[in-house]
Amino acid sequence: MAATIISGKEMSAQIREQMTAEVQDLIGRGQGNKGFYPPGLAVIQVGEDPASSIYVRNKKRACEQVGILSFGYVLDETASQDELIDLIDTLNKDPRVHGILCQLPLPAHMDEFAVICAISPEKDVDGFHPVNKGLLSIGRECLVSCTPLGCLALLKNQGIEIAGKRCVVIGRSNIVGKPVALLMLAEHATVTIAHSRTQHLAELCREADIIIAAIGREGFVTKDFIKPGAVVIDVGINRSADGKVRGDVLFDEVSEIAGAITPVPGGVGPMTITMLLQNTLHAYKNITGRS
Ligand code: NAP
Repeated sequence: MAATIISGKEMSAQIREQMTAEVQDLIGRGQGNKGFYPPGLAVIQVGEDPASSIYVRNKKRACEQVGILSFGYVLDETASQDELIDLIDTLNKDPRVHGILCQLPLPAHMDEFAVICAISPEKDVDGFHPVNKGLLSIGRECLVSCTPLGCLALLKNQGIEIAGKRCVVIGRSNIVGKPVALLMLAEHATVTIAHSRTQHLAELCREADIIIAAIGREGFVTKDFIKPGAVVIDVGINRSADGKVRGDVLFDEVSEIAGAITPVPGGVGPMTITMLLQNTLHAYKNITGRS
């Protein structure tokens, strides 16, 4: 039986439509009021790395689409870490800015952790600040990284039951594996986190009702990993030799066994940017007290 395809593209379009109406409503009610600013996201890029430029452009375009203001800052590749942190300090205090995103990776002479720590936790829409990471780990309200949030939104909007289910997350990175495992735990799944030293991985995965693959290895998850009917969320983005983008899951064969599966492209990817918009709106509401 072929799996249900969970389309992040369609889900994203629906969420963005709702968000557009919400932003328009916020602006309509706030305009003319003293001290009112519409929701705003500052996007900082250091250097002109082509891949980063594409990501930054897509994020700005998505903001415009839903009515969130975007403020772009491009620092020279040779800019010092102090210059970057000064800019972040200014944006932390800027009332027009409710979210700050510093596109990673940064040039090698900069300490990413120090830069992330400079962003005010309440404007940390990437959810990378240790305060937000800590709050997530103790199950408190916080800004959560966008890709893990996107995975959860895909499962929930598809009506997939999570509580009591067995979930294997393959990957333990700070930006995907660990936070998505914590989100699944908060939803009462029984969670196993696997990584490159995990033994008997396929066997372990065959016990899972939900598999979340965040590895970075094309077609790594084959049909041997799948229990019939399991739900498979493919986070991987891998550029194939033929130039196409493929996931960590061998889609054609896994979709014959799984109950539901996300495609690549068109699955988790579009949801990641949508969750960035959602986080910006969330930060806006927290900072301004408007809802
Ligand atoms: P990462 O930091 O490189 O982490 C990869 C994880 O996979 C590590 O924990 C690693 O284990 C594990 N791994 C590697 N080989 C393995 C193996 N043979 N068996 C089991 N586990 C193995 O990557 P990431 O940043 O989490 O990203 C993962 C993938 O998601 C990449 O393809 C990335 O491009 C994609 N991604 C997509 C989005 C999106 O918006 N869709 C966003 C972010 C990332 P160790 O810890 O033991 O090394």
